[in-house]
Amino acid sequence: MMAAATPPDQAARTGASRTSASRTDADAPTAGASVSGNAGAPRVNPLQRLWLREIGMERLWLRQEPAAPSRPAAAQAQQPASAPAAGAGPAAAPAAPAALAGAPAAAKASPAAAPAAAPAAAVRSGPPPRPPARTREASPDPAPAPTPAEVAERVRDASLEELSAQVQACTACGLCHGRRHAVFGHGGQPTRWMVIGEAPGEQEDRQGLPFVGRSGQLLDAMLASVGMSRERDVFIANVIKCRPPGNRNPKPEEIAACSPYLMRQIALLKPERILVVGRFAAQTLLGTDATIGNLRGRIHRFKDESGREIPVVVSYHPAYLLRSPSEKARAWQDLRLACSQL
Ligand code: SF4
Repeated sequence: MMAAATPPDQAARTGASRTSASRTDADAPTAGASVSGNAGAPRVNPLQRLWLREIGMERLWLRQEPAAPSRPAAAQAQQPASAPAAGAGPAAAPAAPAALAGAPAAAKASPAAAPAAAPAAAVRSGPPPRPPARTREASPDPAPAPTPAEVAERVRDASLEELSAQVQACTACGLCHGRRHAVFGHGGQPTRWMVIGEAPGEQEDRQGLPFVGRSGQLLDAMLASVGMSRERDVFIANVIKCRPPGNRNPKPEEIAACSPYLMRQIALLKPERILVVGRFAAQTLLGTDATIGNLRGRIHRFKDESGREIPVVVSYHPAYLLRSPSEKARAWQDLRLACSQL
């Protein structure tokens, strides 16, 4: 599941950002103590000095400036070696723009706010903090997720390429937040068979391709045993295009949001057969809660958008076959059934 950050990553980044902000806030009074104990003469930091120079007040203002008092040890400990001290004299001033990149521009944009904003920046330890990564959750005005009806309307006249692009950009359900890649599907055309599974797993999410890893290798071997190839004449897709966290079962609302894509894929590819693997995919496609044992061994019919009936054969998911090799004999029977003249 683009390269969106996972919730823990986001939480970590958000936490780091808060920590940084808190430290800046806590440090601000130290640097912002711009009045020295000497006759009220102001002590300025490099940014303030730049700003005073900008408005032609530097000489007038700094004429009263006393020697910089030594700072408390705690405040000095926070000062980076490369950053000028808040009360440093003129020799330190030229280094300020580099250490506070971006701050002068902000000061010019809002002169009244500059003296207040500058001290907080001047005591920042380390490089300027990056702005927190923008996430959909943090977006100030996130676009509302489209409804299944809106998704169905968008995909109605889409070509396969357009449909793939829509899936990559889809935000119709919450699974978009955790995905690295939306997995549209992959295979040869014209499509003789369509293989439909449940949802991307971790490897599929990483690679953006369906059925990779060991279960993908087993599926390829099963297809090859009956003369079929995903590169040539089999298109492989899933009911759900984005990985559910922890490989949990997709929720009904996620299935409803995503199913227009699968329906459009089937209508565009016009497969001669559909081999649906795994209980969840079979139940979803056939609209039943029957067990896979009850669904196997016979031909079902799926009616596509145009009313065309496509024979459907149900079999085990390759991942299940890897755990239960003794069931491979039944899977072989299923493949033979799919090869028969239906
Ligand atoms: S799972 Fe389907 S509906 Fe949900 S965001 Fe991904 S593509 Fe869109």
